[in-house]
Amino acid sequence: MIISVLAVFAYFYPDKIMAKNAERSFIMVKPDGVQRGLISDIMKRFEQKGFKLVAAKIMKADNELVKQHYIDLKDKPFYPGLCSFISSAPVFPMVWEGLNVVKTGRDMLGETDPAKSKPGTIRGDYCIQIGRNIIHGSDSVETAKKEIALWFKEEELVDWKLSGYENIYE
Ligand code: UDP
Ligand code: MG
Repeated sequence: MIISVLAVFAYFYPDKIMAKNAERSFIMVKPDGVQRGLISDIMKRFEQKGFKLVAAKIMKADNELVKQHYIDLKDKPFYPGLCSFISSAPVFPMVWEGLNVVKTGRDMLGETDPAKSKPGTIRGDYCIQIGRNIIHGSDSVETAKKEIALWFKEEELVDWKLSGYENIYE
């Protein structure tokens, strides 16, 4: 009886049952990564890992949006230059979903400074200097929620089921 109630619940509310696997991260290819043709390589890594793409778009971000995105760094000397660089040319923001995607995503990116990033990480493989480190990734689940809301409208987030789900999660 309890099993069948749970099964009915899972059928009608799959999001609740799979909530842990539905963590989301905001990942963005910065202008240097876009210009260098690295969008597809970056997407490939997240896709092949098993994460699900929920949203993606190419866009030119205005300076106000970028200033808001990096607001926690407003007192840093590199803040004005960082904001003008990120708003200088198209970026490719994305939302990826999956178990521990925020932490795993950061591990996949590597360290903020590419020189300290291990080979095999995105920054370790594709870039050299901190101010041209080609990619952004949310640093916590809370930050991810804020960043997703800042860059995407609710209707841009696509709700879909990965057909290989059972081969990714136990
Ligand atoms: N940044 C920079 N110089 C620095 C530190 C950071 O240009 O000395 C830039 C770099 O592009 C970095 C971004 O500011 O990715 C945001 O900094 P944060 O410390 O949040 O690093 P991240 O979370 O991107 O690894
Ligand atoms: Mg950061």
